[in-house]
Amino acid sequence: MIWNPNKECMSRDEMHALQSRRLQKLVNYVYHNVPFYRNKMQEMDLSPEDIKSIDDIVKLPFTTKQDLRDNYPYGLQAAPPSEIVRVHASSGTTGNPTIVGYTRKDLAVWSEVMARCLTAYGITRNDTFSVSYGYGLFTGGLGAHYGVENLGATVIPTSTGNTEKHIRLIRDLKITGIACTPSYALYLAETLDKMGLTKDDISLRIGAFGAEPWTENMRKEIEERLGLKGYNLYGLSEIMGPGVSHECECQNGSHICEDHFYPEIINPETLEQLPYGTQGELVFTTLTKEGMPVLRYRTKDLCTLMEGTCACGRTAVRMGRIMGRSDDMLIIRGINVFPSQVESVILECNEFEPQYMLIVDRVNNLDTLQVQVELRKDFFSADVGGMLALKKRLADKLKSVLSISADVRLMEPGSIERSQGKSKRVIDNRKL
Ligand code: ADP
Ligand code: ZN
Repeated sequence: MIWNPNKECMSRDEMHALQSRRLQKLVNYVYHNVPFYRNKMQEMDLSPEDIKSIDDIVKLPFTTKQDLRDNYPYGLQAAPPSEIVRVHASSGTTGNPTIVGYTRKDLAVWSEVMARCLTAYGITRNDTFSVSYGYGLFTGGLGAHYGVENLGATVIPTSTGNTEKHIRLIRDLKITGIACTPSYALYLAETLDKMGLTKDDISLRIGAFGAEPWTENMRKEIEERLGLKGYNLYGLSEIMGPGVSHECECQNGSHICEDHFYPEIINPETLEQLPYGTQGELVFTTLTKEGMPVLRYRTKDLCTLMEGTCACGRTAVRMGRIMGRSDDMLIIRGINVFPSQVESVILECNEFEPQYMLIVDRVNNLDTLQVQVELRKDFFSADVGGMLALKKRLADKLKSVLSISADVRLMEPGSIERSQGKSKRVIDNRKL
């Protein structure tokens, strides 16, 4: 099923024309309403009339998280305060949070794009859907919530916390769909286990997972343990919240709701736009936003964009899995390491739980990487020889994938802290 075939299956030419019209309107709007953009454009000797089609987007200035922080709280807001009906803040951990105001129309667009996502996963009005992203300033909870209501399924606003009660609701209300972070999905699976229940006691069939990077192996693990099919859901508060892109039944990348969010991939060093198929930093322009529109917002998320009609019938450009944020990339002894690479290796071995932590340090001017990983209950044993052999096997595998050696620590089942929201898997003790 497709929620809005007119938009989701538009011909590329029509999409190009629509995006061009919308970009022209947007540039006029921010030029006249946001001094930050007017100043930037004037510095570049650029006027709104110079933007004639979406291809002219490369002429426009970028926006960074720092720009949002420098203009805290409402400096980049384009709509007058009387038009703002809701405010969210990004979950950022350092410095000022970024504040995003939404107009009524922005909220309508948000629940439209979320309904597209849910429909692409196979959710219908007959589903009962649990939203287990945090409700509050974080966009995950309320964003998904209104999408489910817009679609017409029954929403159960469980949020996070009180996981046993949540599992009982999943069972008793025969909840069929769920949205949460992949790490919370695992935590649910563990709690199910602890309560002496199995996936056969519940009827979850579809999961919308996102808000943090996750791997294909993690998908398999969650699907198997909860007995559902897991789909990727991507978004960020600066652009809207969840609903910026979503997988379809083909699971060959995530379709971007391109009539609202225009994607580009750039080289993060030279800031040049890169062709589709090349990995780089994802950049979005909000084509229809009123509250806090952004031009060429640099997400720091690294991925590729793919063109071409998908077997599902949607024509929208797809983005590949997020490799990680450029922020998450660790440089250890000069070598780039992404936590997701470690996750993939760990999940290929059935002795380990998908629970791990990377601890980076610098000892005598040399970077060190420790990988803590939890053993599954059935593999946790007092047989020292066996444990040493297992440790060596994992260390060898990590070395061949990462090209650096890691000090592997096998941890007792349950000893690594679980996360209900976005997980933290790296501790970097180097003072860089
Ligand atoms: P913050 O930047 O404070 O974490 P958000 O809560 O808006 O702000 O989180 C958005 C970020 O979360 C994205 O830029 C991306 O890094 C990550 N993210 C969201 N969805 C996904 C997903 N499906 N896969 C990987 N990363 C994701
Ligand atoms: Zn598709």
